[in-house]
Amino acid sequence: MPLIKGTAVAPGLALGAIHVVGARQDVVPVWTIPAGLVDAEIARTRAAIEEAATRLEEQRQAILQAAGEQDAGILAVHCMVLEDPSALKRIERTIRDERVNAETAIQGLIDVLHEKMKGLEGANVRQYAADLSEPWRGVLDVLLWRDQEQLDMAKGQVVLAAAELTPQVVTCLARERILAVVTETGGRFSHGAVLARSFGVPCVVGLTNLLARLEQDVTVIVDGDNGTLNLRPSEEDIDHFLECRRQRDSRGRALASSAGLPAITTDGRQLTVAVNMESIRDLDTFHVEHCDGLGLLRTEFLYMERSQFPSEEEQYRMYRRVLDTLGDKAVTIRTLDIGGDKVLPYFKTPHEDNPALGWRGLRLTLEWQDLLRVQLRALLRASAHGRVRMLLPMVTSVEEIETVHEIFLGVRKQLISQGYETASDVPVGAMIEVPSTLWIMDELVEMVDFISVGSNDLTQYLLAVDRDNTLVAKLYEPHHPAVLRALAHVAEVCTRHATPCSICGEIAGDYAMALVLFGMGYDMISVSPNFLAELRFAVRHTAWNDCHSLAEDVLEARTPAEVRELLAQVRAHLHRDLLDDEAEVSPLT
Ligand code: PEP
Ligand code: MG
Repeated sequence: MPLIKGTAVAPGLALGAIHVVGARQDVVPVWTIPAGLVDAEIARTRAAIEEAATRLEEQRQAILQAAGEQDAGILAVHCMVLEDPSALKRIERTIRDERVNAETAIQGLIDVLHEKMKGLEGANVRQYAADLSEPWRGVLDVLLWRDQEQLDMAKGQVVLAAAELTPQVVTCLARERILAVVTETGGRFSHGAVLARSFGVPCVVGLTNLLARLEQDVTVIVDGDNGTLNLRPSEEDIDHFLECRRQRDSRGRALASSAGLPAITTDGRQLTVAVNMESIRDLDTFHVEHCDGLGLLRTEFLYMERSQFPSEEEQYRMYRRVLDTLGDKAVTIRTLDIGGDKVLPYFKTPHEDNPALGWRGLRLTLEWQDLLRVQLRALLRASAHGRVRMLLPMVTSVEEIETVHEIFLGVRKQLISQGYETASDVPVGAMIEVPSTLWIMDELVEMVDFISVGSNDLTQYLLAVDRDNTLVAKLYEPHHPAVLRALAHVAEVCTRHATPCSICGEIAGDYAMALVLFGMGYDMISVSPNFLAELRFAVRHTAWNDCHSLAEDVLEARTPAEVRELLAQVRAHLHRDLLDDEAEVSPLT
């Protein structure tokens, strides 16, 4: 059984055909072409070259009209480059002999042109040689874009394979068509991973040389619980897969049967169990009665799924839809948190060597205040129709909150003067993600109505470990005592000031850890839709006093391994309870 071991990122099992996607322009996907499809791949290449040449000719004509013959000349050279018979022969030979996809063959040609360029004397000559690879990049653009178009048009479900787990990969296809996602790189807490979990799509990353080992369309089994990919499943493997899936489904039914009951501990203390949402489509993935509110709406994904900024009206309508669906439950709308790996294709920001420490979240929207104002207008207008809370990402200082308050008041005043209705009270909350905020908690809580901890970023910044970097993925450790003590500190300050305190990072998706957080003093825990039922079950089968003692034990642990051991004991205990419930539910299902 050709089983590759990677890192489990999102749970679940899937069986289906692979489709390689190149959803990131600077990583060219490599895959093997089955012998019978080589001619089709060559035809695909020729069509892409033709289309790139047509685009170049259109650009040349436009420049000719606007600027004249001389400026248009360079594009005429580019058109000729695409007709070079030796280059075409080389590309076709690579596809035929090495049985690789068109993108790989063209990238190979670009690399050769670059090598040749290095040997040339003089900066001007080198510049000219660099230009010669430019038209081939245009062909790559056509191929990668076409691939997306074909994917959109084709029917059926697929297992997506890609070089890197980016948010773009997970959103390149309608969710119901993605059976699973497998990638070569990507961290467990990267935004792509967060999305996969939220979408309930099994996902495995860190599969070395994955794309070179795959054939397009080949059937595979993905095990998102154990982090494996079976490249050529036998009949026995498939039978085993079907049995495992049956057991998972039966467990899911046992959990779902009681998911509508309140999350109250056996000694009578209630936890608010909220849901995290990325997309309007998430509304179809959970039952509203299984959650007590929306703890985090990551609005940047509403922006990422589009080709231009949504207008105030469009945002207003999206927020209205969420509010109307959630009824009288609170909806926490986080202001735009772009930057880092969350890029908008239509909003170019300057290159940053270290984007995680750069222009992200509130820093960016306080610089581009018109973006924030439009979002606040939409959010405030929507607030007249439900219980809106506004959450600020990547807060670093009290001055930032002061500035937001000023903008917020200004926007509201303007709306009222224009005759719009807004709620009289829209609570404003700060995310605790940047370590500086840990040491100004007493001042911060005086300025906001609630606190929400983003443990994904807090972990990355406390431990100085990039959440997207596979090389340091092992060091990204949310169970590190420093992280847990920071989380306890936040809960302690909030409790002292009677400020509502929630957590919406991925750490809370593990129900055993969520019990610890409840025991620390968090009053609301917000998780991806597919963890709601488990968490509510766990709360209903535990006493709050036990959560509290568990939190004390966890905070005394010296290493992440000791913490994991304690959590494993909690899970084993709850698993026994679940088996009892499952036995009760199964006869009915
Ligand atoms: C977090 O950092 O924990 C968080 C919830 O925000 P995001 O994952 O969107 O960065
Ligand atoms: Mg964050």
